[in-house]
Amino acid sequence: MGNCCRKNCSCLSGVLPCVFNNEKRATSYTTNDIVIQNIHINTQHDGPQLPPRFENRREPQINTYVALYSYEGRTPDELSFKAGDKMVILDTTHASWWKAKLSRTRGKTEGYVPFNYVAPVSSIESMPWFFKDTKRTAAERLLLQPGNITGSFLIRESESQKGEYSLSVFDGIAVKHYRLRKLDDGGFYITAKSKFISMNELVEYYGKREEGLCCKLLKPCLKTAIPLPPDLCYNTADHWEIDRNSLKCLKKLGQGQFGEVWEGLWNNTIPVAIKTLKTGSMNPQDFLREAQFMKNLRHPKLIQLYAVCTLEEPVYIITELMKHGSLHTYLQNDNGTSIHIPHQVDMAAQVASGMAYLETQSFIHRDLAARNVLVGENSVYKVADFGLARVFTGDDVYEAKNDTKLPLKWTAPEAVKYNKFTVKSDVWAFGILMFEIVTYGKMPYPGLTGRQALDKLEQGYRIPKPFTCPHDLYEIMLQCWNAKPEERPTFETLQWKLEDYFETEASSYLEANSFVR
Ligand code: ATP
Repeated sequence: MGNCCRKNCSCLSGVLPCVFNNEKRATSYTTNDIVIQNIHINTQHDGPQLPPRFENRREPQINTYVALYSYEGRTPDELSFKAGDKMVILDTTHASWWKAKLSRTRGKTEGYVPFNYVAPVSSIESMPWFFKDTKRTAAERLLLQPGNITGSFLIRESESQKGEYSLSVFDGIAVKHYRLRKLDDGGFYITAKSKFISMNELVEYYGKREEGLCCKLLKPCLKTAIPLPPDLCYNTADHWEIDRNSLKCLKKLGQGQFGEVWEGLWNNTIPVAIKTLKTGSMNPQDFLREAQFMKNLRHPKLIQLYAVCTLEEPVYIITELMKHGSLHTYLQNDNGTSIHIPHQVDMAAQVASGMAYLETQSFIHRDLAARNVLVGENSVYKVADFGLARVFTGDDVYEAKNDTKLPLKWTAPEAVKYNKFTVKSDVWAFGILMFEIVTYGKMPYPGLTGRQALDKLEQGYRIPKPFTCPHDLYEIMLQCWNAKPEERPTFETLQWKLEDYFETEASSYLEANSFVR
């Protein structure tokens, strides 16, 4: 089906246009909650070129913010606050830690807050029912969690189609979805009969009457997952070589080819994963160069690199901790007991989403496989170990004697033969990863060595359709294994194909009226 891009897709990589003047001064006024002072928001965009993570920064629209979650300050520079606390944002110069002032009279009132814990007061983002960047399948999963009731609902914004909103409602049996249509003047409606100037008004209205919906909107969906702060703390955002004595290893989680991974604590409080690299497995200088870039790669479907200890060997890599470990083991342990096709498609879609972000950054993973995808709580899947393959010493390190450990079976033929690693060789590996997902972690090309598989591939052989794999899903795998790299799909295309896998134009969204339910 080629490399077609999603209809009306909006570019994910684009820098949002700055709608502000370079300097903005807020007027001074008083509300019941808070005194807003004359403040200076620096929204200047000059200076050195910003690294990728700065591109998606949220420019504050107004300076009065509300805390979405509680946060315990981790260093003296940071503020502690409770969900619902209001604050004035004083400085947004730093992309991920904003300087804020709380209106309370006791305790520390000024300090840094993680930008993803706050939202402008009265904005859609600050509403308890707003679940930004939540896909249809994820919305279903969330609403079907225990604790939600008939009438639990959420409104979500599409990650890829900015400005498109959908309402998902639990009717006691299943989750129903409705598209919110936008009016030219900024209002919203579900049926043309009832139009609203704001989403809040729409929610309030349907909270009192069904009027064609499957039920009234009674309670926002429970928010179980609290997002991670963007860094270990404000101080490690830019200085991320940390003292190894600040780490405590608690439990060994696993062993890779290049070292061990431990569950641990940073500063005795913050859970982290600590990867210890075998002495001599890489040149620390090369690693630091790569890590510099990796640190700036930020996406909900990528494991966040927090910090490193490179001053002495063994080098440590500190990342976010994922509760359920590697996807490979997770799939093998389940082996079809509770994981079925919808969930498997969702896993693949989440990985494609992380990879689509890497694609926008022209960053090549080089070792995409189920062993390098990690599983968190609430069925969250994240891509790990991106870029690491390049810094391990010895280009042939993967071609070790033990064939089961070779990633040859994941590597595109042109990458093996000509060392030509590109985003398209990552796409090839993604096809193999899809095979691992549908087969619950089976080894690709069973009975063949990596070299034998490669020879067969060159004669046009491809992994046959696994027994339980739906035909459409297998079609996508075959596209990833196109002999011509340029004809393989982009990750952006893969992402939407997988996200929309169960949707058809006619059946996916309900119309709200008294006849159609
Ligand atoms: P290879 O070295 O061939 O890439 P691998 O990816 O399994 O193999 P590691 O990345 O060293 O090797 O990871 C070893 C194991 O540690 C993983 O399989 C996983 O179970 C666990 N692990 C790694 N990183 C984390 C993490 N951030 N959170 C939780 N568990 C992790």
